Amino acid sequence: MLTDAMKQDLVDANHILYERGVVDGFGHVSARDPDNPDHFWISRNLAPAMVAAQDLMCFDLDGNPVTDDRRSYLERFIHAEIYRSRPDVRSVVHSHSPSIIPFTVAKGVSLRPMCHMCGFLRSAPPVFEIRESAGDDTNLLISDSRLGSALARSLGGHSVVMRGHGLTVVGSTIRQAVFRSVYAEVNAKLQMQAMALSDDVIYLTEEEADTCSSTMDGQLDRAWNLWKQAAIQI
Ligand SMILES: [Zn+2]
Repeated sequence: MLTDAMKQDLVDANHILYERGVVDGFGHVSARDPDNPDHFWISRNLAPAMVAAQDLMCFDLDGNPVTDDRRSYLERFIHAEIYRSRPDVRSVVHSHSPSIIPFTVAKGVSLRPMCHMCGFLRSAPPVFEIRESAGDDTNLLISDSRLGSALARSLGGHSVVMRGHGLTVVGSTIRQAVFRSVYAEVNAKLQMQAMALSDDVIYLTEEEADTCSSTMDGQLDRAWNLWKQAAIQI
């Protein structure tokens, strides 16, 4: 079972991701069960801003519901297969983060970390191309375990961008996964602005990225508490 604190964080995460513009009617955030690593918790099929504690459901790693059979997210297999393949991951955010999507379709350009808040992006998140797994006539959704597994294999360190679709970010806590999701969107906006000014943009080295990332991991609660307060207003 989720602890009460984790349950509260998971509900707050849904609201924060909406308030910060990372998700809208779509997108989702999950947490691995602390007592059973083969189970994870995520809202029933609901817009993130509407999620309350009673909406959380438990799933196994095949994407089957454990607690009840309310309508669930089509793309829950993203979460299931990442938890299966990455034991270090304890939270997953999947979003259609709008500033990320141009970087998934513009050839010759990669999302890369360019400010100190975004070191978790490391060198450049890999791009998942669903056509390589499922042909050229899909709806681009990760709607079964096979596609979830393909996406999980594409996951870089902490994130993967999905062509024409969005972003999936992982963390060792709910707060870290949310922080990374918010700042991936920030980095994408900043990178587009820098690229409009110059075709010679300076990015973080991998060493800078790692150092910045570990520094920011000690500061997560400051941002979280602010975002939580702002999200309460919605
Ligand atoms: Zn999606």
